[in-house]
Amino acid sequence: MCQQVMIAMALANDPDLLIADEPTTSLDVIVQAQILDLLRSIRKERELTIVLISHDLGVVTGLADRVCVLYAGRIVEQGDVDDIYHRSRHPYTRGLLAAVPRPTGAKHRRLTSFEGAAPSLLRVPTGCAFQPRCPRRAADCLEADPRLRPVGSVQVACHHAEDLDVSCASDRS
Ligand code: SF4
Repeated sequence: MCQQVMIAMALANDPDLLIADEPTTSLDVIVQAQILDLLRSIRKERELTIVLISHDLGVVTGLADRVCVLYAGRIVEQGDVDDIYHRSRHPYTRGLLAAVPRPTGAKHRRLTSFEGAAPSLLRVPTGCAFQPRCPRRAADCLEADPRLRPVGSVQVACHHAEDLDVSCASDRS
C-alpha cells in the first residue's frame, strides 16, 4: 500500500518522467506483480517514460524496453531488453543472468557468483573496473579502460566482447 501511495504522490504533478528506484524491494511476489501491473498501465495511459532502477532482473524483464547494466558507476552494457537477455556480450551481464534462479530448464544448473566485491568508487581498479573479478581477464584488461562501443546488437564496454559466444547467452549458463 505504501508503494502504491508513493507512486500516486509521484504522479500528482503529471510528470513526463518517473524514476522508480527499486519499486518492488521487500515486497512479496504477489504485491510485486501488482506494482508492476500498475506501472505498466500508468505508462500506457499517460505515455510516461519510466526509468527503473533495480537489482532484480525479473522486474527489469517485466517492465523495461531498454536496459543499461552498470558496474562501478559506469554503463558496461546497454541494449534492448531482449538483446541484453539473449545476446549480451559483457562478462558481468552474463554473470548476473546466470545467477538468476529459474524454475524451468536443467535441474542441476549451478547458480554462478562473482568472487570479491564491487570496488569503492574512490579506488576504482586500473584498466577495466571489472578486471579483478572477471573470469575472462587478459593482460590488456589491466591497462586500458574499455569504452562503450557497438558489438552485435548491443553496446558494450569490454575489450574482448567479440570473443564471447552469443549462443551461450540465451541459455544463461
Ligand atoms: S575488458 Fe577484460 S576484464 Fe573487463 S569485462 Fe572485458 S574481459 Fe573482463
